[in-house]
Amino acid sequence: MQEDSKINNHTHKVSVSQQWGTARLRFLFLLPMSLMIALIIFVLGIIIYEYTTRDVEKGVIHIRASVQNFYEESIRYDAKALQAILHTLRQNDNLATALTQRNRDDLLRLASPLFEDIKRDFEITHLYFSGVDRVNLLRVHTPLRYGDTINRITMLQAQKSGAVAYGVELGPLGTFTLRVVAPWYDNQTHKLIGYVELGMELNQVIEKLQNFFGVQPFIMINKEFLDQTKWEAGMRTLGRTAHWNHFANKVLSEQSTYKLPPVLAEHLIRGEVIADTSIINLIYEGLSYRVTSLPLHNAGGIAVAEMILLTDVSKEEKIARKTLYEGIIIVFVAGAILFAFFYWLIGQIGQRIEQNEKKLHDIATHDGLTGLYNHKFFYTLLENEIIRAERYQHHTSLLLLDIDHFKNVNDTYGHRSGDMILSGLSKRLMSRIRTTDSVCRYGGEEITIILPETDIMIAKQIAENLRVLIEHEPFEIEDNQHIKVTVSIGVSVYPQHATKASTLVSVADTALYKAKENGRNCVCVYETEEKKS
Ligand code: GH3
Ligand code: MG
Ligand code: MG
Repeated sequence: MQEDSKINNHTHKVSVSQQWGTARLRFLFLLPMSLMIALIIFVLGIIIYEYTTRDVEKGVIHIRASVQNFYEESIRYDAKALQAILHTLRQNDNLATALTQRNRDDLLRLASPLFEDIKRDFEITHLYFSGVDRVNLLRVHTPLRYGDTINRITMLQAQKSGAVAYGVELGPLGTFTLRVVAPWYDNQTHKLIGYVELGMELNQVIEKLQNFFGVQPFIMINKEFLDQTKWEAGMRTLGRTAHWNHFANKVLSEQSTYKLPPVLAEHLIRGEVIADTSIINLIYEGLSYRVTSLPLHNAGGIAVAEMILLTDVSKEEKIARKTLYEGIIIVFVAGAILFAFFYWLIGQIGQRIEQNEKKLHDIATHDGLTGLYNHKFFYTLLENEIIRAERYQHHTSLLLLDIDHFKNVNDTYGHRSGDMILSGLSKRLMSRIRTTDSVCRYGGEEITIILPETDIMIAKQIAENLRVLIEHEPFEIEDNQHIKVTVSIGVSVYPQHATKASTLVSVADTALYKAKENGRNCVCVYETEEKKS
């Protein structure tokens, strides 16, 4: 048992450390994998970012379309309501008579209570009566203003078509009003007796946009459709500071009830066009906004203003960011798990490779029967030892050991018993040598022992001890039999006897031959020619 472990210890002396092998394998495999994972995280990040950003923008575009729809539908709906009121008004014969007679007092007396009613119920701000010549007869809300010819588009359209006309009209103060003009025909004669007109401001519609769509609308009117003097005068009357030159080519409508964020104002001051379909990103007071715009057309179909829509997308962006982070974390965690798994797996593979390499190395360097180093590896060891001895200027001795009359043993007890003796003898030798010494099976029943840093005297002593050790204790073979064998040992020493490995072996062989000649079971040191003579 003790002899066995000694052999194992001894073989470890030459086991090549493969630690770097596993580390290299990990590096070669995990580095590209890590890069790949990093790339996936990067690409995925971009994809999620693009996707979520596009999603946010899609939402904004959708809101813009809904606002446009709502605005147009509201106007159509309100126009219908106003038409219905006008229809009822025109059934009033007293009003018809007053209009035909162009009797302002009668008109005012009859229309005032009606106007108060509809003003309350439908937020109507204007009720006009005009003659067939479009000359204004009465503004029920401002009875003192009359006598001017009404040249607004809706009026002209009603005159031209002889039917009800409606549309949005821009006032001199930059306010939008929805106007419905109806020609009034006499019930009996069917002759035109004048025009009646209802109007309402669009504030309601604009205010609803905030409630329904969460957008802040700002109405910017193109200056070319306003008269600066009239506008500035009007603003002063309303007690507002007029900023005609604040923006490049637009003025902010009074109907924009929200405070224009300075960042958006800067855009507009620079005169940058907020195109209908493009989206501008704005950060204002810690919130994220998208800006789009809608053209606002008057009754004549001309874009006289634009409605700038400020949409708060902070919540959507927060969700998008959350999705992005979650996606990255998931891939990162998956990547880390994959990394850890492959780190472990490569460790296992590396270990397996190390074991196999060690096994291969053992097979390549050891003898199968005895477990000693083989002939080939013996030479490698000896050559290395000679190089070392040369470098450090010390001796190295070599013992060549041969079992005496081993052929007889084989012949008497069988080859298998011979093998057992050979194996037992090897173990016994291994158990007695120093850790720096190496025992090798040179061939057949010949064994070599390399003794580093050992001179002639000590080598001879060691050889003698080994010889005695073998002689004195028989070896066990099959059937509990014990066989006594002896060995002859030839000794040669570097550098006295030879400086080359092969020569050192051949002189040891010469010494061994001499030991055999001397009657076997003895140790013989090689003697140089000079010594012999
Ligand atoms: P001596 O050395 O004393 O001159 O006599 P010997 O009989 O030992 O002669 P020699 O060394 O020339 O013979 C070697 C013999 O050793 C021949 C062969 O039968 C035996 N032998 C060699 N290798 C093995 C082996 O692996 N197993 C066994 N059982 N026998 C071996
Ligand atoms: Mg022999
Ligand atoms: Mg022999």
